[in-house]
Amino acid sequence: MTRKFEGDRLLVATHNQGKLDEITELLKPFGVSVVGAKEMDLPEPVEDGTTFVENARIKAHAAAKATGLPALSDDSGIEIDSLDKQPGVYTADWAETENGRDFIMAMTKSHTMLVEAKAPQPWTARFCCTLVLAWPDGSDQVFAGVMEGRVVWPMRGENGHGYDPIFEPQGYDITFAEMVSEKKNEISHRADAFRKFVAACFD
Ligand code: IMP
Repeated sequence: MTRKFEGDRLLVATHNQGKLDEITELLKPFGVSVVGAKEMDLPEPVEDGTTFVENARIKAHAAAKATGLPALSDDSGIEIDSLDKQPGVYTADWAETENGRDFIMAMTKSHTMLVEAKAPQPWTARFCCTLVLAWPDGSDQVFAGVMEGRVVWPMRGENGHGYDPIFEPQGYDITFAEMVSEKKNEISHRADAFRKFVAACFD
């Protein structure tokens, strides 16, 4: 069942500042203020699902249960075709180190694996985003978005977050990290999922 979001504050179940910034910007036109999981002191749940939707559900339901508020989560990642769609749901895990996330290491690993696999160019890939809006009564709504493109090397650009410097979206010759945020937020996998979320949940 589709339910409308009627509040003016939405809890976003993420500890990832890059995602929170993007979601805040995407929700600006709807007069909704965004509060992040960190600000609410919520613990980070273990993401042990094997699909984007499973992990998004884990995060959204944990936050809705802990606060009694509707909570929106985002689970996303990059699928690289020649690497059997890795890292996929493990996109953030590839960046994990003892001292926090290192995306230069993760991007270097992706490139090294492509070279070692002698993968033919273009290195086609896609960013996927699944949004889940969970309600405190345990129900939820799921919205999926995708942006096709290719992995490029070397890394280019300073904007964005995560794997943006090695992803060139289809139809562009610049990476997500070379794009201004307004442009990325118009065409990205997250924007695609957001359009579906907004169409279903806002008037
Ligand atoms: P998770 O959804 O928190 O498990 O993490 C997904 C990971 O995918 C993020 O930490 C980023 O590394 C990557 N990712 C997701 N969306 C984007 C994006 O828009 N640009 C770059 N990297 C992204």
